[in-house]
Amino acid sequence: MGSPNLECPICEADLALNGDERPGEEVFCSYCGAPVVLVGDEDDPENWEAEDGI
Ligand SMILES: [Zn+2]
Repeated sequence: MGSPNLECPICEADLALNGDERPGEEVFCSYCGAPVVLVGDEDDPENWEAEDGI
């Protein structure tokens, strides 16, 4: 269990995820609005990383 706890690579704010995101998906930082791409193993969300999606 547990959703990934990721930080925005731009402003380092916590990214608020719904819990239904998947690797390769683009989300937007709620703080700075930057697009962020989730990277990692779909079965291992706790080790996902957030990459600059610009
Ligand atoms: Zn941000």
